[in-house]
Amino acid sequence: MLDTETFHRWIVETARLVEANADRLTSLDAAIGDADHGINLRRGFQAAVTALAEKPAATPGAVLATVGRALISKTGGASGPLYGTGFRHASKSLGEAAEVSELQLGAALAAAVAGIRQLGAAAEGDKTMVDAWTPAVAAYQSTVDGGGALAEATRAAADAAEGGLRSTVELQARKGRASYLGPRSVGHEDPGAASTVLLLRALATVTA
Ligand code: ADP
Ligand code: MG
Ligand code: MG
Repeated sequence: MLDTETFHRWIVETARLVEANADRLTSLDAAIGDADHGINLRRGFQAAVTALAEKPAATPGAVLATVGRALISKTGGASGPLYGTGFRHASKSLGEAAEVSELQLGAALAAAVAGIRQLGAAAEGDKTMVDAWTPAVAAYQSTVDGGGALAEATRAAADAAEGGLRSTVELQARKGRASYLGPRSVGHEDPGAASTVLLLRALATVTA
């Protein structure tokens, strides 16, 4: 089971990883976008950490609701509303539960990716964060279905997200700013898929 503190640590660890990788995220975005992805996410996750420190959340769902709000209002760019919506959908999926089971976490991750897909209208193969999220959620769920422990499932999710990130290199972008480049978007990792790996790596770290 995961408690509120674990969810809080997930966000703090994500903010730390975003901070440590901000320059890399921004240079990925410089290649096929407008060179602000690291800047946007650093601002967003710092705002999320601050919001949680100012008003501690009472449940896992409340943690994710606060994060969603902070990301939507502070991140900017396409990624802010997309990640923010993902966190809000995940929060709704958890409801008022004080502790979250492996299965509930899987449902929340699935709700997050559904929210992101609904808002951004991106499918797998469009070279977006969806290409990291989708295999990650599938890997999480098949690990849990196969009787795997939480730590194993979150590690499988992070590994699958990394595979998804690598798969974006050869894809041509069909959504977001990178799509303006047409065939010239091929040959680069998608920045949002790269930040999704960080988010899921952080989840694996705090549940290890
Ligand atoms: P912006 O493109 O507005 O500057 P960011 O640089 O912060 O925003 O984020 C870019 C990332 O957002 C992309 O790398 C991609 O993963 C993601 N993205 C953009 N548009 C979409 C979309 N319609 N659906 C899913 N993800 C998207
Ligand atoms: Mg950008
Ligand atoms: Mg921008």
